[in-house]
Amino acid sequence: MAGVILRDVRKIYPSGFEAIKGIGLEVGDGQFCVLVGPSGCGKSTLLRMVAGLETISGGEIDIGGRIVNQIEPAERDIAMVFQNYALYPHMSVYNNMAYGLRNRGMAKPEIDTRVQEAARILEIGPMLDRKPGQLSGGQRQRVAMGRAIVRQPKVFLFDEPLSNLDAKLRIAMRVEIRKLQRRLNTTSIYVTHDQLEAMTLADILVVMNGGQVEQIGNPLEIYQKP
Ligand code: ADP
Ligand code: ADP
Repeated sequence: MAGVILRDVRKIYPSGFEAIKGIGLEVGDGQFCVLVGPSGCGKSTLLRMVAGLETISGGEIDIGGRIVNQIEPAERDIAMVFQNYALYPHMSVYNNMAYGLRNRGMAKPEIDTRVQEAARILEIGPMLDRKPGQLSGGQRQRVAMGRAIVRQPKVFLFDEPLSNLDAKLRIAMRVEIRKLQRRLNTTSIYVTHDQLEAMTLADILVVMNGGQVEQIGNPLEIYQKP
């Protein structure tokens, strides 16, 4: 496990646009942090910087005592779940989950143990031989989660993972994600524009606006203020 600390983090895109204007934030070991705010406020940019997918223009991001820019991509112990799931359409569910582990040269029995365990937790055991195209939206979302879980990362990053699901499924999955995170106790940063989702999931809620933090605290503090 590892906490995540942001120190005066800034992002200026090559266009000159300042998307993140100096954000400081501390997410403790095993905490679930939700970034919420209107479209365009910089949530995705911030998450991508933590993931090492976007360069950092100023400040630094510390994951478990190591500075993100200085960690080799292969050593970044992070798993990200995307809005569009980003599954490989021609691969079975099993292989979608196993792929990243094989690439790291993990031994087959260990891969199998991890995939089977993730499939059991996520209740997709019977679907391991199917292709993503043969699954419902909710099942695909589970596979995307499974692919993150099997890596046993120090940090989970979620970029609006439920926004492609219908309202009913979104609520069910949000409860499941919370349960899963409690069980695995993995430090998580979760981006959403849905306030209800943010309130349900967050230990720490970060309300962003215009590339800055507007409010930060636990959900009750933030939403029960007069
Ligand atoms: P959010 O995830 O909160 O919707 P983003 O992080 O995607 O916001 O975007 C924050 C701001 O940065 C937006 O105004 C967006 O238009 C701008 N932006 C995002 N990507 C780029 C880019 N590659 N070049 C220039 N501006 C960008
Ligand atoms: P491909 O579809 O790319 O030909 P396979 O389906 O043959 O790949 O599987 C590749 C590897 O993953 C094989 O070594 C196989 O043992 C393992 N595998 C695939 N599906 C399962 C499964 N449901 N349970 C256990 N191992 C599986």
